[in-house]
Amino acid sequence: MNNFDFHNPTHILFGKGRIADLDARVPADAKVLILYGGGSAERTGVLAQVRAALTGRKLIEFGGIEPNPRFATALKAVELIRDNGITFLLAVGGGSVIDATKFIAAAVRHDGDPWEILTSQGAVVADAMPFGTVLTLPATGSEMNPGSVITNAEKGAKLAFLSPHCYPAFSILDPEVTYSLPPRQISNGVADAFVHVIEQYLTYPVAAPVQDGFAETLLRTLIDLGPKALATPQDYDTRAALMWTATQALNGLIGAGVPQDWSSHMIGHEITALNDTDHARTLAVVLPALMNDQREAKRAKLLQYARNVWDIREGSEEERIDAAIAATRGFFESLGIKTRLGDYAVGTPEIDIIVSALSDHGLTALGEHRSIAPSDARRILEAAL
Ligand code: NAP
Ligand code: FE
Repeated sequence: MNNFDFHNPTHILFGKGRIADLDARVPADAKVLILYGGGSAERTGVLAQVRAALTGRKLIEFGGIEPNPRFATALKAVELIRDNGITFLLAVGGGSVIDATKFIAAAVRHDGDPWEILTSQGAVVADAMPFGTVLTLPATGSEMNPGSVITNAEKGAKLAFLSPHCYPAFSILDPEVTYSLPPRQISNGVADAFVHVIEQYLTYPVAAPVQDGFAETLLRTLIDLGPKALATPQDYDTRAALMWTATQALNGLIGAGVPQDWSSHMIGHEITALNDTDHARTLAVVLPALMNDQREAKRAKLLQYARNVWDIREGSEEERIDAAIAATRGFFESLGIKTRLGDYAVGTPEIDIIVSALSDHGLTALGEHRSIAPSDARRILEAAL
C-alpha cells in the first residue's frame, strides 16, 4: 500500500426529515446565501423545507446555476456575496450546484484572478468561505469531497480543482428528495459513481485488499441498485443505499493508498466542454474503450475485476477481459446510456478538437502511470467512435 493522509471533515446528516437539522448546523447569526440550480429545488419543495428550517436567519437566494456550472454565473454570486456581507453558503442541488458553491467559496477569498483557481488545479486556494450542502442527486460525491469542476463557455474549457479548504462543513442526505429525479439523472448518477470507483480501483495493483474489497462491493451494489432505482423510484431502501454508495464512491476512502487513474474523467470533460454532453455519458463512452486500450497495463486488475465484480471465471485471460469490458458496456446500455461517440454527435473532426484541448489544458500525461499522452487519447477516442 502507498503512503497516504486521510482526513475527511464533512459532517454527514443522513436520512428522512434531516433538512430540519439545518437549524442546528448553520450558525444562528449567519447571513446565508442559498444557491440552487434551474428550478427543480423550488418545484420539488426542497427549497421550502430549507427556508422553513432556517426561519429567523437573514437569507438571500441565488438560483440559475446550470448543469456543468458556468464560470460567469459563479462570478455573479461572488459579487452578490461581497455586496451583501454574506457569511455562510448553502448549496441545494446536485453536483453542479455543489461544485459551483465550492468555486464561489474559494473565489470570494482569492485576491487574484479567479480563473487561476482552475488553471492551478486549486494550488492557489489559501482559504474558502464556510458552506454546507443539501444534496438532491446521488452521483458525484461532491457532497463529501474537496473537488469541483467548472465550465468556462467562452474559453471552451471544463476544468477541475481540488482544495482542502473546499470540503463542505456538512451535507444533508435525505433519500426522499431523490424520488423526483427523472430516470436520465438516476442513470447518470449510477454511471458517474461507477466510474469514480473504477478510476480508483482499476489501476496497476498494489497490496490494498481493504480498498479493493470496498471498491468491489460499491461496484456490485451499483450494478444491483441501478435497475431497481429506475424500476421503483419511491423505494426508500434502494434510494438510501444508492445515495450512500455514490457518496462513498468519491469521499477519499477507497482512493487512499492506491494508484489513481482519472483519464476517463479528464477526456470526458473535454467532450462536455465541446458539446455539453452529460458528464456521466461521456464517461460511459470513454471507459470501455480505455479499458480495452490499456489492457496490458491493467491486465491483473482487469482479471480481478472480471472475477470479483462480474463473476467471470471461464475462458482464457483475453476472453475474461473481453467479457468484463462487454459487461461494463452492457451495464451502461441497460441504464439507457449510449456508449459510442457517434451517439453524441462526435466524429473525427471533433476528436481533433478534444485531443488539442487536452494538450492546451496540460492534460498530457494521464493514467496511473502518467503514460496516456494525447496521441493515446486519440486512439482511445477513435476506438469509441
Ligand atoms: P447536476 O448537473 O447537478 O443536475 C442535473 C439535473 O438534475 C439538473 O437539471 C437538475 O435540475 C436536476 N435535479 C437535481 N436534483 C433533482 C431532484 N431531486 N429532482 C429533479 N431534478 C433534479 O447533476 P450531477 O450529476 O449531480 O452533477 C454533474 C456535475 O458534477 C458535472 O459538472 C460533473 O463534471 C461534476 N462532477 C463533480 C465531481 C466532484 O467530485 N466534485 C465528480 C464528478 C462529476 P435543476 O438545475 O433545476 O436543479
Ligand atoms: Fe464524475
